[in-house]
Amino acid sequence: MGTKTTDALKQVHYLAAALKAPRITEAASRLADQARDAGWTHEDYLAAVLEREVSARNASGARLRIRAAGFGALKTLEDFDFDTQPAIRQQIGALASGGFLTEARNVVLLGPPGTGKTHLATGLGVAAARHGHRVLFATATDWVTRLTDAHRSGRLPQELARLRRYGLIIVDEVGYLPFEQDAANLFFQLVSSRYEHASLVLTSNLPFSGWGNVFGDQAVAAAMIDRIVHHADVLTLKGASYRLRGRGIDSLPSIRTRDPAD
Ligand code: ADP
Ligand code: MG
Repeated sequence: MGTKTTDALKQVHYLAAALKAPRITEAASRLADQARDAGWTHEDYLAAVLEREVSARNASGARLRIRAAGFGALKTLEDFDFDTQPAIRQQIGALASGGFLTEARNVVLLGPPGTGKTHLATGLGVAAARHGHRVLFATATDWVTRLTDAHRSGRLPQELARLRRYGLIIVDEVGYLPFEQDAANLFFQLVSSRYEHASLVLTSNLPFSGWGNVFGDQAVAAAMIDRIVHHADVLTLKGASYRLRGRGIDSLPSIRTRDPAD
């Protein structure tokens, strides 16, 4: 390598450090050799070097967004065995591309315990984070607690505005516990504030017809379901619990009881 090349590389290292772009330092000399061997144009070389920095940044951004999302257990769509739920394979495949988030559409996952609702909701959240969206995951009960705290301290509008900056909010386990009237109203405000602005993914072990009992009021439930499903994919999971596979237990006592495994 000539002195001129060495000097140029030193300068690249200095400039990459100034840009806080360490992958450029690493890629510059390695790719320069490859470029010379393969006869790349200057433009090809520059694009290849910058591409290393950009993809590394995207990956670390996704890692941060996944960590900040508050998932219970980290599950991905790649880990999901669609042979147990063949009917939804295609729909989930389409949702994985993240297009639903740019259109502020919702996803509702319904089905009995252990059929993979939380897994798929988490997997959709991870995919969203990888596509550059900010994501927050919590159970319906946790969301109500957060909203109640904000309401009590007079910050509900600010909290709803802050949450709208998240491209995706996941509400797991709607229906495990019934809501008090105040809680149901707060939850309704969350749904309204996101309507046609930003996406929700909800999971529930109850069909929509059972939501009236959860929210203690048929009218509130109907108004909420109306907003949720206006622009939504509703996926119904079927079959026996994945948790109980191969244990000789065919069915759980009732889908309305709390699942002790959760
Ligand atoms: P639900 O939320 O519907 O009660 P979960 O998503 O929590 O069910 O699934 C229960 C457990 O079984 C989790 O550990 C989940 O990762 C696993 N699981 C469920 N369905 C599948 C599947 N089809 N492929 C891989 N793992 C699954
Ligand atoms: Mg679950």
